[in-house]
Order: sequence, then C-alpha cells, then structure tokens
Amino acid sequence: MRVAVVGAGPAGLSFASRFGDADVYEEHHEVGLPRHCTSLVGGGAARRAQLPNGVVLNQYRELLITDLQGHSIRFKLRDPVLLLDRPGLEQKLAEGVPRIHLGRKVVDIRGGYIHTADGSRRGPYDYIVVAEGAARRISRAYGHVVRLPGLQIDVRSDVGLHGITVVYNQRLSRAYFAWIVELDRGLYRVGLADLCCTVEKLNKLVKLVGGRPAGKPFGGGVLAGPPLRRLVEGRAVLVGDAAGLVKPLSGGGIALAVKSGRLAAEALAEGRPEGYEESTAALRLRLRAAFAAFRALYGWRLVDRLLRLLDGGEYVAVDYDDHVKTLAVAALLDRRSLKAGVELLRYLASNRYALHLI
Ligand SMILES: Cc1cc2nc3c(=O)[nH]c(=O)nc-3n(C[C@H](O)[C@H](O)[C@H](O)COP(=O)(O)OP(=O)(O)OC[C@H]3O[C@@H](n4cnc5c(N)ncnc54)[C@H](O)[C@@H]3O)c2cc1C
Repeated sequence: MRVAVVGAGPAGLSFASRFGDADVYEEHHEVGLPRHCTSLVGGGAARRAQLPNGVVLNQYRELLITDLQGHSIRFKLRDPVLLLDRPGLEQKLAEGVPRIHLGRKVVDIRGGYIHTADGSRRGPYDYIVVAEGAARRISRAYGHVVRLPGLQIDVRSDVGLHGITVVYNQRLSRAYFAWIVELDRGLYRVGLADLCCTVEKLNKLVKLVGGRPAGKPFGGGVLAGPPLRRLVEGRAVLVGDAAGLVKPLSGGGIALAVKSGRLAAEALAEGRPEGYEESTAALRLRLRAAFAAFRALYGWRLVDRLLRLLDGGEYVAVDYDDHVKTLAVAALLDRRSLKAGVELLRYLASNRYALHLI
C-alpha cells in the first residue's frame, strides 16, 4: 500500500513512524520549526499518547485562573502538566521515519496524487494522510473548525507568578484567554488567542507583567474544534489539528495529534481505514461536548461569571486534559456552584437561541 503524509508535525510523524513506509512531505526545511506552540501537555494524556522519552523540559503542579482584577481560582494538579521540548518532540519522532521530503509544500491532493508548489506531481498513492495542522488549507474542504490567531513571547519578569496562569480578561481576549507560563525562574511564556488585535493585546499583557522580551513573538492558529464528523473520505485520512482533534477549552492538541496519527497508522496497516474512525468515535463525542462548553463559556463569557462566583476557591484538578470533567467536579464540590447553576439556567431562559446554539 502506498501512503503519503502532508505535514511533519506530531500528527504526521507519529503516523509515519508507526506505519513505517510512507512518504512525508513537509513545507519547511527543518522539522518542528518555526515554533508556534506553548507546549503544555497533561501528564496523563502524555502517557496515553505514548510520547517519546526525553522531551520534557519542566513540570507543573499548580494552575491559577484569574482575571487579573482580583478574582482567582486555584487548582492543584493531581497529575503534573508537562512542558515539552518542541521542536525536540518532532525531532525524536522523525528518527523513526525513513522518508521525509523537506521544503515540499503540498498545494493539492487529487486523484491520489500529491501536487507540490514547485509544480511537480507524485503518486499515485492509495491513501494520503492530511496532517497539515491548523493551516487547514487542504483539510478545510472536509469540514469547518473554529480557528483563532494566537501569539506569544518569552519574557523576563519579576511578576512572581508560579506554574501556569490562565487569564480570563476581556481586555486581553474577548473570545478566548491569555496565559502566563513560568518556564524557569524569572522567565515566562506569555500569550493569548483572540479574534483580532493580538499584537496590541500581547503588548498590553507584556506590560502588565512588566516583561522584558527574551525572544521574538511566535504563534499560529489556535483551534477550538469541533472535530470533523468524518476522518476518512475517499483516499484522504485526516489526523491531528487538520481533523479538528483539539481540546476546545484550551486549544491543546499535541497529545491528540500523536494519538490520532498512531491510531490512523494502525488502522491502515490492518487494511481497515474505517477502524480509525471507530477507534476515535468516543473521543470525538467527548470533544463535541467540550465544544458545546466552549461556546457557552467563551461565546457568552459565562467563564467570567463563573470566575467571580467561585472566587477564592481551591480545588484539585482531576484531569487537566478533560476540562469539562475538571470544572464539573470542582463545581460539584463547591456550594456556591448552585448559584452558578441558577445563573446559567436564568441565562439560558432569557436567551431563546442559547439552547439551539449548543
Ligand atoms: C499559540 C499556540 C499555542 C499552543 N499551545 C499548545 C499547548 O500548550 N499544548 C498543546 O497541546 N497544544 C498547543 N497548541 C496546539 C498544538 O500546537 C497543535 O495542536 C499541534 O501542533 C498539532 O499537531 P499537528 O501535527 O496536527 O500540526 P502541526 O504541529 O501544525 O504540524 C503540521 C505540519 O505540517 C506542515 N505543513 C502545513 N501545511 C503543509 C503543506 N501544505 N505542505 C507540506 N507541509 C505542510 C507544517 O509546516 C507543520 O510542520 C498551541 C497552538 C498555538 C498556535
């Protein structure tokens, strides 16, 4: 069976290293570069995705959620969150891949052929694995996924925050959130995703933490889902960000990229591509539920109300990678969440389109 892979990110490389015999096409001249990602992964998800050894730079056990206006909630993380070395992850995965064609941008996949930007055509292939990430130039034909521009920068600062800080403040992001991650003592990665004006807002955030730039800004498209309904259509197999396989509440997709690449490889190796859709069906259902939560929490900014209502709360995050479960457990343990529930019902009752939107 002849197989091509578009994109040498975690999804494409994980596919190719498991499948063994595929042609990988990557538009850039090095794997894993340029960087775009904050690189945080829940420890549980990292284990389940079987990430390669030697790619963890730091670990976190605390998560602070704040609006930087006096309201905050603290989570102790039962399983630490890991800061990964990217591009180290891609380089490790690439070690097991025999054929990576660097500097080859794929512009079309038609009739089993790969068409590249230099005008050449390769193939025919039995299957083409679309692993192009959030760019979604090819995969957008297979379904819509919400995409927000994200931008971040590493800064030196005396702000004194520890671990991971998630900021819900509409002056920094109206549609999503901002983040401040302590990379090392006095060194932070600060960033945000929003529908517009990310440069101005990032400048504001850097100012807020008194940051002195320690590198250039970097970023890319942050996806919020939902996952595609079909992951295999004709000869095309979609994995990772290209398939909308991301956590809607955080945009995190590294572990799902690696996992989906592996599951697709196993299904194709068995000669049953439909097995890939079957093995991801439950996951996609959970991601759809999380996407509904994304619309309610961010679309209607219920997250701001929740933060004010649960201000000062300290909880244990049962599963960093399952935000819906973590928030639900935290809310159940706090009597004030009853008030939050009543507010939510009141909101839904006063907005007749709300239920329809979910
Ligand atoms: C600002 C930001 C912060 C993030 N932070 C986190 C985080 O902390 N934790 C987390 O889990 N996720 C995070 N993500 C998301 C995460 O980066 C992605 O989910 C993950 O990289 C998806 O892997 P992938 O292999 O599907 O795509 P990618 O990593 O994007 O890889 C796609 C590859 O395909 C190549 N490519 C694209 N188009 C073509 C083409 N036409 N021809 C050839 N090659 C092509 C690209 O060059 C790239 O190498 C973040 C994303 C952004 C933008």
